Amino acid sequence: MASEDRFSSDGERGGLAALNDLFDDTSRPDARRQGLISSSSIGLANRGRVLQVLFDLGPTSRAELARHVGVNRATITGIIQPLIDQGILVEGEPLPSKEGGGKPARPIWFAEDAAPICAVLLMHDGVHCCLVSLDGTITAEVRAPFPEDAATVEPLIDILFNCVGQVLDLAHRPPLGIGVAAGGMIDTDTGTIVAVNLAPLLDGFPLGQALARRFGLPVRVDHHPRALLVGDRWFGIGRGKPNFAVIYTGDVLGGAIFLDGHLYRGPAGAGGELGHTFVQVDGATCRCGRRGCWETIATLGWLRREALQRHLPSCEAMDSRSLALLAMENGGAAAGLLDLYARNVAIGIANLQQTMAPNFFVLHGDVVGGGATLLEAIAAHMRDLVPWRPGNDIQLVMGDLEDRAALRGAAGLILSELLHFAL
Ligand SMILES: [Zn+2]
Repeated sequence: MASEDRFSSDGERGGLAALNDLFDDTSRPDARRQGLISSSSIGLANRGRVLQVLFDLGPTSRAELARHVGVNRATITGIIQPLIDQGILVEGEPLPSKEGGGKPARPIWFAEDAAPICAVLLMHDGVHCCLVSLDGTITAEVRAPFPEDAATVEPLIDILFNCVGQVLDLAHRPPLGIGVAAGGMIDTDTGTIVAVNLAPLLDGFPLGQALARRFGLPVRVDHHPRALLVGDRWFGIGRGKPNFAVIYTGDVLGGAIFLDGHLYRGPAGAGGELGHTFVQVDGATCRCGRRGCWETIATLGWLRREALQRHLPSCEAMDSRSLALLAMENGGAAAGLLDLYARNVAIGIANLQQTMAPNFFVLHGDVVGGGATLLEAIAAHMRDLVPWRPGNDIQLVMGDLEDRAALRGAAGLILSELLHFAL
């Protein structure tokens, strides 16, 4: 069967049809601006709210869910029983009852075999796809690098389609949609790649539209750091937090901000270009063509050039992990460079803290390899750079070096839409 009509048959739709009826126009930004909410939409919104609470709490009994959303148990049962009947949720084994006896509680959680979501991480150098279950479990991973000598975008698109096609073939039931975390500048209204400094062949590619047309599934595309944030929000350390930010470092630098319970995107996703905020007037020239961007002093390119100047070993492959090891073993120049790198990373975080006060920062990407030594060095510079004041209770934590949060976040883009969770 051709990929285009792979999921067009009505056979074996079960959970897909059930969850897809959660899709409705009130979840679209345009629709949200229109008048009143219909009574059927209120029902969907309430179901989404209950499932959000379930995500935040983990496996939870009906009574606990009822307590958290402020309704009675019968209302909760009315909402979740259809989802249990449709195989989206399951009731676990009874837990020992607490003091006072009573009926043992059975925790509700997402069924392992419910329809998964296809997640795609599209970076300048290749594609990484997988399936993500509703509880965040990653399976069926397929990766493919892009050729370095491609002269047109077509070979890159073939690789992307192949990768997604292979993953969809591995799904035990039709996925709910395709979520994409993409490097570069993304127009989130249209799912189009605006520009990728490291892979200009992809500039202007209508990624969302192309995937939707090819595979016949709902597609959502967002900027890679925002997908990291969504991954942390749904499945990671950001669960239940009203305010936090993520910072990604590596070949490039980016970030995303969650404020007062919402992901801030800006018009067409223009917000959050943190790597290209200025930290040095008339500083080094950035890949974006401007000068003094944060990305010019807190990415691997800077680290490797500085390592070369300091005559450190293996400087061409230097990263946070190898630098932290070298600093621990030899001290000296390596320790000095590690501290300078920590300061350069801290400068941009301090600017973000002074502007928005997210207070809680999750660091992803290369910097995670530097471990506790680098984290503590960044935290020490933050203490110097950001004056203490009431409300500035800053915490920095390490996230993920291995793309897990980005893949889960790509899936979370679809999930957020399914559950009417206004990101
Ligand atoms: Zn720049």
